Amino acid sequence: MSATELLALGAADLAARVAGGRATAADVARDVAMLRERDRLGRDGLNAVVHHDDAAVAADAAAVDALVRDGTAGPLAGVPVAVKDNIATLAMPTTCGSRILEGYVSPYEATAVARLRAAGALIVAKTNMDEFAMGSSTEFSAYGPARNPVDPGRVPGGSSGGSAAAVAAGLVPIALGSETGGSVRQPAAFCGVVGVKPTYGRVSRYGLVAFASSLDAVAVFGRTVDDAALGTEVISGRDPHDATSADVPVPRFRDAADGALAGLVVGVPREFFPDSLDPRLRALCDRALDAMRDAGATVREVSLPHTAYAIPTYYIIAPAEASSNLARFDGVRYGLRLEGHGLRDMYEQTRSRGFGAEVTRRVLLGTYVLSAGYYDAYYRKALDVRACIAADYRRVFADGVDVLFTPTTPSPAFPFGAKSDPYEMYLSDIFTVTANLAGIPAMSQPIGRLDGLPVGGQFLAAHFDESTMFRAAFGLERALGPEAHR
Ligand code: GLN
Repeated sequence: MSATELLALGAADLAARVAGGRATAADVARDVAMLRERDRLGRDGLNAVVHHDDAAVAADAAAVDALVRDGTAGPLAGVPVAVKDNIATLAMPTTCGSRILEGYVSPYEATAVARLRAAGALIVAKTNMDEFAMGSSTEFSAYGPARNPVDPGRVPGGSSGGSAAAVAAGLVPIALGSETGGSVRQPAAFCGVVGVKPTYGRVSRYGLVAFASSLDAVAVFGRTVDDAALGTEVISGRDPHDATSADVPVPRFRDAADGALAGLVVGVPREFFPDSLDPRLRALCDRALDAMRDAGATVREVSLPHTAYAIPTYYIIAPAEASSNLARFDGVRYGLRLEGHGLRDMYEQTRSRGFGAEVTRRVLLGTYVLSAGYYDAYYRKALDVRACIAADYRRVFADGVDVLFTPTTPSPAFPFGAKSDPYEMYLSDIFTVTANLAGIPAMSQPIGRLDGLPVGGQFLAAHFDESTMFRAAFGLERALGPEAHR
């Protein structure tokens, strides 16, 4: 079997092959390194991979192969996984796309990564991202932008653009990203892969470098719904290291593949289909809805009236929390330190040179909305609106809607430099931020192409109801078949 054939397998098939002795984890490790170089996924090409360590992966692969011989291989035996560079790993640095963390190596590993390893996965790369996960294009990485494998003249989306590109380029069937406002779903849509943001609290945030703690989630890319479901299943569940991780049983998300669209009530929120929406994008959504109807789903129009306030609400809460979380990068505790005249000057030098423009903008904005005179006018108001947004969702799900379906983004991948106004860039999250504000699970999957560029459709479900979300996603993937990529 050629290198690309082995890596083209779905995660479950690849693991079965390794567990059954028909391929070894060592073969996988070698093929990943070969493909990464051949397809130039590192600095000299797509710039999706920012750190790799082939010797460490070879050692891990030997350990997995030993477990296979003992008959104790896990569900991801030998499956290569790429990890966004804001998720702590022991091997390889964790730099968050920032100068301020250049060369920083974490002394501990994120729970999600530890669970992947325990399941037999090989952590083969750290992936490029917008600095501290702030951005929607990966153009704000201090290490240069990642490129979209479908069209290298366009962005892969962001902030988890490197992970999306690594999956789309065929390097790995599963990758980890992180979401605060859509940073996995949006790049998944742009690169033509699947992206899942689990319910807030479903996956431990231990080892995920904090951006906005009440919104942050470790999230999963898969080449297919099955890959994404398997990855999500492995990393989910209560973790004593994260007090916000929920003690809720984790169903086998892959079993949702046995469910059918028949009997599901799919809500279509009218606020996500404004008159200004590109009619061709609307047509692809309609084609997906028709396919669901033909497969027996009931489609019902619903309203989420507070949707219009999502972007302003998000861009108050996220920077407020970020300004507090990023205070720890002070030249004393981590990474970069620039000497100055005294302590205060050292802080100023380190932070002004260590952080890029977008991170600085967010810290300033966040400090402003939290300041004494403005706290009530902005921050508290935003918290109230957030509660209204969450209530909109609770109401539609209580009214009998099983899942909601929307476009993931208002347009496909844009060319580099196309969104130079920060507010323009913020608007690419218009359809994704509400799920983070409400804390509900949401995912994007391919539903077709526009001018050759992938377009994503989004499912949202009630808290901890990932199973129903995956049931709809498996159903739509089956119903569309190859159309999803045309
Ligand atoms: N693009 C959004 C932002 O810039 C979302 C980022 C994210 O989900 N990490 O904040």
